[in-house]
Amino acid sequence: MTVGFDLTESQIALRDEIREFADKRIRPLGPEMERRKEFDKELASEITRNVSSYWIPKEYGGKGAESIVDLCLIAEEIGAAYGSCLTIFEVGGLASVPIVKGGTEEQKHRFLEPFCRGEYFFAFGLTDSGGPGSDPVGSIKTEAKRDGDNWILNGTKRLISNVDLASHILVFAYTDRSKGAKGISAFLVPVDAKGFHITEKQHGHGLNAHDVEILDFKDCVLPNDYLIGEEGLGFVYSMKGLDKTRLCLAAGVIGIAREALKIGVEFVKNRIVFGEPLTTKQAMTHPLIELSTRIEAGRFLAWRAACLEDKGIRHSAETSQAKWFCAETAVDTCLKVIRMMSGSAWDNDQLNSMLHDAITFTNAQGSAEIHKLIMSRTLFDL
Ligand SMILES: Cc1cc2nc3c(=O)[nH]c(=O)nc-3n(C[C@H](O)[C@H](O)[C@H](O)COP(=O)(O)OP(=O)(O)OC[C@H]3O[C@@H](n4cnc5c(N)ncnc54)[C@H](O)[C@@H]3O)c2cc1C
Repeated sequence: MTVGFDLTESQIALRDEIREFADKRIRPLGPEMERRKEFDKELASEITRNVSSYWIPKEYGGKGAESIVDLCLIAEEIGAAYGSCLTIFEVGGLASVPIVKGGTEEQKHRFLEPFCRGEYFFAFGLTDSGGPGSDPVGSIKTEAKRDGDNWILNGTKRLISNVDLASHILVFAYTDRSKGAKGISAFLVPVDAKGFHITEKQHGHGLNAHDVEILDFKDCVLPNDYLIGEEGLGFVYSMKGLDKTRLCLAAGVIGIAREALKIGVEFVKNRIVFGEPLTTKQAMTHPLIELSTRIEAGRFLAWRAACLEDKGIRHSAETSQAKWFCAETAVDTCLKVIRMMSGSAWDNDQLNSMLHDAITFTNAQGSAEIHKLIMSRTLFDL
């Protein structure tokens, strides 16, 4: 049996295509979006059209990635270019994969085709205001009740990314609380639906162009055909999305680590101290060598989980390993490079924003503790 780490020619071409797009379109606009704390809307639409559409099969208008490894390559390039834009690709996957997996044929054509043209933008509304996001089944209070040909939604959601860009939000609500996870259904709510309001827009530390919103649904009326797929399968669909996006996020944060390492290497090569470049000081080169090894290891953890997903083999523990390790590696890389560069890093806006982006990504799509909980089930056979 062999284990392959080489990319195919088509994967190299895909990586180069996304790198070129990121270099030409994302990198030049990144600093301005970071300062203004908002996305360039035209760029967000371009990313959806040119990049997020790889989540969608060709028959529904997408570019149809051939494998999850391809999606990891895409995520790494976007993460390296600008962390906030990685949220566009990730949230695009989180909200569209459940439609790909669960939607009816009619829904897939109706919703996914305009998404792939960059006309629609989806947000993902799982986390409820009612309790801990780590336990959505226990904490979701949002409910949907049938009313003739409509559904009526009531509840509040918090920490929902990029709603100000969205045309629709994939909202998870109980349709039968007595059934637990099997009583949660998914609805694609248009942002102009009657009874829907954004009550607050929030910025935190990191991912500055991205924001999160608090959402309110008060007797929000939705026609029956906005229930995605089957009633009671919403949580299953959401997990199908998370299975894929989490491991791509692992690859995406490796992009942040790779970029920080590159800045550190350039600094050590070019900084002359006491008449010699810092490359002559092992105290300066060894930390970068260690970080570059961890970055390679993280990338391979993400690719391994992706290969398992491609083969249809269960990979929760491997994905959690990758997500936790890659996010910690990104934080460590940014921190160590900032410390090594001393005064030269203090006013380096790119490095400082990458550090905060990396910290925020440690919690996105499952915190370190939740991923260790998932890993412990395999290690201890629980
Ligand atoms: C920037 C950002 C963007 C987000 N975007 C979205 C989005 O688009 N859509 C969406 O639905 N949600 C989104 N979220 C919500 C995110 O998924 C939640 O923050 C996450 O699920 C954790 O929930 P919580 O913040 O309520 O923490 P809690 O669940 O309250 O957890 C608090 C702490 O307890 C720890 N903990 C919890 N359970 C255990 C355990 N069993 N053992 C040990 N420790 C434990 C956690 O690791 C954490 O450190 C976003 C969050 C952030 C920060």
